[in-house]
Amino acid sequence: RNSLVWFRRDLRVDDHAALHHALLSSRRVFGVFVFDTDILAGLPPDDRRVQFLLDSVRELDARLRSLGGYLIVRHGRAAQVIPALAAELDAESVFANRDYEPQAVARDRAVLATLRAAGRSLQTFKDQVIFEHDEVLTLAGGPYSVFTPYKNAWLKRLAREPEAVRPFETAPHASALAPVPADHALPSLTDLGFAPNAAPIAHPGMTGAEYLLAQFEERLARYDHDRDYPALDATSRLSIHLRFGTVSVRRLVAMLHARIADGSGGPGAPVWLAELVWREFYMMILARHPRVVTQSFKQAFDAVAWDEGPDADALYAAWCAGRTGYPLVDAAMLQLERTGFMHNRLRMVTASFLTKDLGIDWRRGERWFALKLNDYELASNNGGWQWAASTGCDAQPWFRIFNPVTQSKRFDPDGDFIRQYLPQLARLSGTAIHAPWLARPDVLEKAGVVLGQDYPRPVVDHDAARERTLARFKAIRAA
Ligand code: FAD
Repeated sequence: RNSLVWFRRDLRVDDHAALHHALLSSRRVFGVFVFDTDILAGLPPDDRRVQFLLDSVRELDARLRSLGGYLIVRHGRAAQVIPALAAELDAESVFANRDYEPQAVARDRAVLATLRAAGRSLQTFKDQVIFEHDEVLTLAGGPYSVFTPYKNAWLKRLAREPEAVRPFETAPHASALAPVPADHALPSLTDLGFAPNAAPIAHPGMTGAEYLLAQFEERLARYDHDRDYPALDATSRLSIHLRFGTVSVRRLVAMLHARIADGSGGPGAPVWLAELVWREFYMMILARHPRVVTQSFKQAFDAVAWDEGPDADALYAAWCAGRTGYPLVDAAMLQLERTGFMHNRLRMVTASFLTKDLGIDWRRGERWFALKLNDYELASNNGGWQWAASTGCDAQPWFRIFNPVTQSKRFDPDGDFIRQYLPQLARLSGTAIHAPWLARPDVLEKAGVVLGQDYPRPVVDHDAARERTLARFKAIRAA
C-alpha cells in the first residue's frame, strides 16, 4: 500500500504524528508540500514568509533525503493537487496533521470528499497542539472562556496523561520512504512568483528552530521577569516555528517538564509554559467559536461605535506608518514594518493605542498585523486583538486603558528600544524620550530634535482620547 504524507504547517521530520503513522502502516510513503495559490494570492511579491517557507521546505526535503526519502513540492490549489497526486502515486491514503483554522477545515473537507469519491481516504492526526479543543472542557462539558481555569485544567490533564508529550518516532521506520527519483527538483522563489526580501527572516527551518531553542534555553530561567522588556530580546522568537511546525510543541513541553523537575527552569519555565497554553487557549476559542473571525467574542461589543471616515483613516495611516508621535508606539510599528516581528508587550501597547486612543475598530489593526507579522496566526492574532480591544473572552476590561507614556517608562525605562528604531530621538535623555512634546525647548534643541519636522507631534491627546473611549463603551453598557 502506498500513502502520501501531506505536509502543511508541520515542516519537520522528527516527532511528526502523520509521518509516523504513515510509515508504520504503509509499504511505500511519499511526502508532499503544496505552495497553495489560494493562500499565496494577494501577498506582496517580497513577502518574507514565503521565503521562510521555501527555505524550510528545502531543509525538509534534505532531511527526508538523508533518511532515504524526498519531498515532492507542487504549486497550485491544494484542494485539486492533493487528490490528483494521490491518484498519480496510487496512494490509498493521504496522511496529514490536523489544522483548526476555518479555511483549512473547509479545504480538508473538500479534499476528503474528492479522495473518497475515488476510493481513497484522508487520515488526520493531532500534532499541532498538546490538547485539542474538545480535550480540555469544563465540568459541565463545555469550552472554557476564561484562561486561568482552562490552564489549570490543561495542566491537570497533562499530569494525568504524560504520554501526550511523547514523541512520534519517524527515523526508525524510515525504510518505508519512497526513494528520490533522478529528476527530482524543487522550485525557486521566482518559480513561485515571488522575489527575495531585503531583510529576510533569520533562522528558517528545523535548524533555525534548534538554534533559537538552544539560545532561549540559556535565558529560560529569567523569562518571567525579562519577557516584558522589548530592549532585552528575552523571549524565544519561536512563534514562527510553532506556526510552521519546524519545531514540535511536544518537544518544548517535554523540555519544560524536565527543567521544572530538575529545578533548572527557575521561575521562568512555568511562565513560558503558560504562554504555550495561551496559544492552545486561543486555538480552542477559534475552533469552538469561528464567528470570532469577524465578530466580537462578547457579542454586545459589536455595537461599539468605532470612529470611521477621513479623520479616522488618516489616524490609521499614521499608526501603520509609525508616525503617531508616541515614541514607543512608533518604534514598535517600525519594528513590525522592518523585521516582521513585534515584541508581545508592544503588540499589546500598539493594539490598545489603535483601539482605545485612536478609537479605530480592532479588525483594521488585526488585518494590518496579519499582513505584516512573520508569525501571523489567525487564532492568536484575533485573540490578542480582541483582548486589547476588550471585546474578547477574558479580555482586558474596557475601563482599564493603557497609558502609552506610562507603558514606555515602565517597559523601556532608558529608551533603548525606542532609540533602535527612532534614531532622530537618540540624543534625548531616558526621561524626555517617552514624551518629547513635554520636554523643555532647550532639551529638545540640545538633542537636535525639531518636533513636527524630525518627529511628529502626538496625533491625539491621551487623556481626552481616554474619556472618549470610556464614553464609547459606557454607551454599550447603557444600551
Ligand atoms: P515567547 O514569549 O517566547 O512565547 C513562546 C510561545 O508562546 C510563542 O512563540 C507563541 O507561540 C506562544 N505565545 C506567547 N504569547 C502568546 C499569546 N499572548 N497568545 C498566544 N500565544 C502566545 N502570536 C502569534 O504566534 N501569532 C500572531 O499573529 C500573534 N498576534 C498577536 C497580536 C496581538 C495584538 C497580541 C497582543 C499578541 C499576539 N501574539 C501572536 C502573541 C504573542 O505576542 C507572540 O506569540 C509572541 O510575541 C511571539 O514571540 P516569541 O515567540 O518570542 O514568544
